[in-house]
Amino acid sequence: MSNFDYDLFVIGGGSGGVRSGRLAASLGKKVGIAEEYRFGGTCVIRGCVPKKLFVYASQYHEHFEDAAGFGWTVGESRFDWKTLIAAKDKEIDRLEGLYRKGLENAGAEILETRAELVGPNSVRLTKSGKVVTAEKIIVAVGGAPNPHDALPGHELCISSNEAFHLPELPGSIVIAGGGYIAVEFANIFHGLGVETTLIYRGAEILSRFDHDLRRGLHEAMEQKGIRIILHDHFVSVAKTADGRLAAETKSNGTLVADQVMLALGRDPYTKGLGLEAAGVTTNERGAIIVDQYSRTNVPSIFALGDVTDRVQLTPVAIHEAMCFIETEYKNNPTSPDHDLIATAVFSQPEIGTVGLSEEAAAKKFEEIEVYRAQFRPMKATLSGRAEKTVMKLIVNAADRKVVGAHILGHDAGEMAQLLGITLKAGCTKDDFDRTMAVHPTAAEELVTMYNPSYRVRNGERV
Ligand code: NDP
Repeated sequence: MSNFDYDLFVIGGGSGGVRSGRLAASLGKKVGIAEEYRFGGTCVIRGCVPKKLFVYASQYHEHFEDAAGFGWTVGESRFDWKTLIAAKDKEIDRLEGLYRKGLENAGAEILETRAELVGPNSVRLTKSGKVVTAEKIIVAVGGAPNPHDALPGHELCISSNEAFHLPELPGSIVIAGGGYIAVEFANIFHGLGVETTLIYRGAEILSRFDHDLRRGLHEAMEQKGIRIILHDHFVSVAKTADGRLAAETKSNGTLVADQVMLALGRDPYTKGLGLEAAGVTTNERGAIIVDQYSRTNVPSIFALGDVTDRVQLTPVAIHEAMCFIETEYKNNPTSPDHDLIATAVFSQPEIGTVGLSEEAAAKKFEEIEVYRAQFRPMKATLSGRAEKTVMKLIVNAADRKVVGAHILGHDAGEMAQLLGITLKAGCTKDDFDRTMAVHPTAAEELVTMYNPSYRVRNGERV
């Protein structure tokens, strides 16, 4: 046993912190883990998990409508926000309990307090003021919604944090942003019957995705009744005489709604964390700078997950934690692999994607082949719903490797997970062609697009 109170002290009980703390403790290390709010972090408490439950809730309206085409008569339906919130809270409580139990069973000490660095090997527990020491410290405090301080009236707006606990379902909402959170919540609120407007500063929503998916999703959302305003942003937000909110935009006048939500990215949650005291360097966004083994410039301090602003995704934080354990406690130096991360946007329809967009691949390779299918999903033939599925494979013509796979449609996220394996394995288009289709599924299109829809050579479509 060293001269420190702990072998490992973890600040932050989210995805990366809990995984590293639990695994280190199960290897016999003396671990302390501090969390100021709730164990489970953004993902479990106010992110991925409650969001997905909301997505399910918001889809029933369309399910009821679609049922008629299959012979069902569905009686009068009503939605109760408070029932959803209570059910969601119960599930989140259960999951938080599992996270705590996992730590306890492994032998980690749980500390319900904010913790701040005071030196390379010491941490202050703010609740008691006690300073504890550790041989190694992990900072895994995650991120927080960008509050957009520069916007007059920003304090009147909600972020995704509050969206999970609104006392009432608003009648109308305006959401600013064009990323994951803005798009997912626009679909959730609309599906629950809220009059929804999305305002985004760029030319098309979801700037980092393939253009076909961006355009296809935009059209589908508008068709459902979501208003999308592009090339615009808020100038100010103020309260109206009747207690609603008026968001002044640069080019589209005033948007009045019951709630205004800002979904303008998430910032590393490093303010007041004592990084300066410990000598840890950050970048201009406040993110902790780490090397390929998640080491900061201070040899005893490591950082994992969103606080490092590498890729802000739960599985990435967990993967980084596992690599830390391999490197530091198993004598097996392992650096996180951030290449070819499959991801989903839980919009309606869903997006599932892995690898390069057509635009990015066209810049990177001399010639690419684009295989593209757009079709009406089978369910829509009887439901009568006007919806389209889009599937795209991007192939590097030189070696036939599939370098990008993109889906817009039902279960796109589920498919993206499996496509991720094929791209990671370096499969070629010929491997896809050799694979027997599963019939009748939507996914069979992925192995039956035999001829390229077009090629892009030196950036030109041919
Ligand atoms: P994103 O980075 O996805 O999107 C942020 C959006 O805000 C972009 O459209 C950006 O525009 C816009 N924006 C940023 N600053 C301003 C500004 N000052 N004025 C106007 N617009 C601005 O962030 P999110 O907040 O949606 O989500 C945070 C992260 O959480 C994501 O990056 C993602 O990694 C993760 N996440 C993942 C989910 C999933 O896996 N399904 C779900 C939800 C979140 P521009 O594009 O022009 O820069």
